[in-house]
Amino acid sequence: MTKDEQLRYSRHMIMPEVGPAGQERLRAAKVLCIGAGGLGSPAALYLAAAGIGKLGLVDFDEVDLSNLQRQILHGTKDVGRKKLDSARDRLRDVNPNIEIVTHEARFTSANALDIVSNYDVVVDGSDNFPTRYLSNDVCVFTKKPNVYGSVFRFDGQTTVFAPHLGGPCYRCLFPEPPPPGSVPNCAQAGVLGVLPGIVGTIQANEAIKLILGVGEPLVGRLLYFDALKMKFREFNLRRDPECPVCGDSPTITEPIDYEQFCGVATTSEIPTVSVRELKQKLDARESFQLVDVREPIEYEIANIDSAKLIPLGELPNRLDELNRHQLTIVHCHSGQRSAAAVRLMREAGFENVFNLEGGIAKWSDEIDSEVAQY
Ligand SMILES: [Zn+2]
Repeated sequence: MTKDEQLRYSRHMIMPEVGPAGQERLRAAKVLCIGAGGLGSPAALYLAAAGIGKLGLVDFDEVDLSNLQRQILHGTKDVGRKKLDSARDRLRDVNPNIEIVTHEARFTSANALDIVSNYDVVVDGSDNFPTRYLSNDVCVFTKKPNVYGSVFRFDGQTTVFAPHLGGPCYRCLFPEPPPPGSVPNCAQAGVLGVLPGIVGTIQANEAIKLILGVGEPLVGRLLYFDALKMKFREFNLRRDPECPVCGDSPTITEPIDYEQFCGVATTSEIPTVSVRELKQKLDARESFQLVDVREPIEYEIANIDSAKLIPLGELPNRLDELNRHQLTIVHCHSGQRSAAAVRLMREAGFENVFNLEGGIAKWSDEIDSEVAQY
């Protein structure tokens, strides 16, 4: 280590938990950030500053003026430049001692294994489901910890997916991606600019801890952050032995591109009720079945009292738990999965079944702000 590096990392090295040996581990480490956007910005800045020897970035986008509210790797002068060029300049300025590798490409099934196999830890800062599922699966295949983060409006989530370290993977929680168009992204839903700063910084912290082998990693724990209430909550996560990718008999053994299935899902011709109508029915104690077709972890984060949880994937086999003749209202996060459920139930002979328009997200917005947004 040069004199410059000794001085640069001195605040690390005086701590016994890091020390010169720990700093050497950071220097020998290779971390991949997927995305140089809202989450990737703070993560990459702190990883570079910490002296991660090889820092890889995957991105294909250009800097847009609307990015600057949260993507602090980039500045006003960078608008129109490739994010990777802008990121490289900024990170070189932060720390000229490290190697910065840019992968200018969309992260796809064709390149994901090749890229990830060059790194020790992956920090997933992507903002879409195809990339999340792909980075999850490839990290499971290659036994690399996947430091996950996501943000939505005022709420963030982070965890470390690492089945090889005893925790679950993303598919243990959500076996399959939601239908295309069912979940709004930041562009549609908005996000408080500082929120990815907080979540991305936690991701950098977890990556550094994993490399140093200190503390307790967020393996098997989901940290949920509410910026409005300024509250952190923690949920225990378990590995699912039936998981299609990390389970005992995996059915997914190679990378998949979900983009090819993407299109605009239609919810027309599905009978709906509004959140206000649902509220009236609940207040009037009307007799009906309320069915929640989300995944168990979503139910744990937020639920509507009296709703019966039957994840969409289990619904075909659990229809007998419901009364086909009673009024039934189905909800999910924002209304797309429940629309699929209503379609399925009508085909199975349910006469009086409705989709809750806007799902629990709208319920939280318009009826009960105590119900967490996610
Ligand atoms: Zn799994």
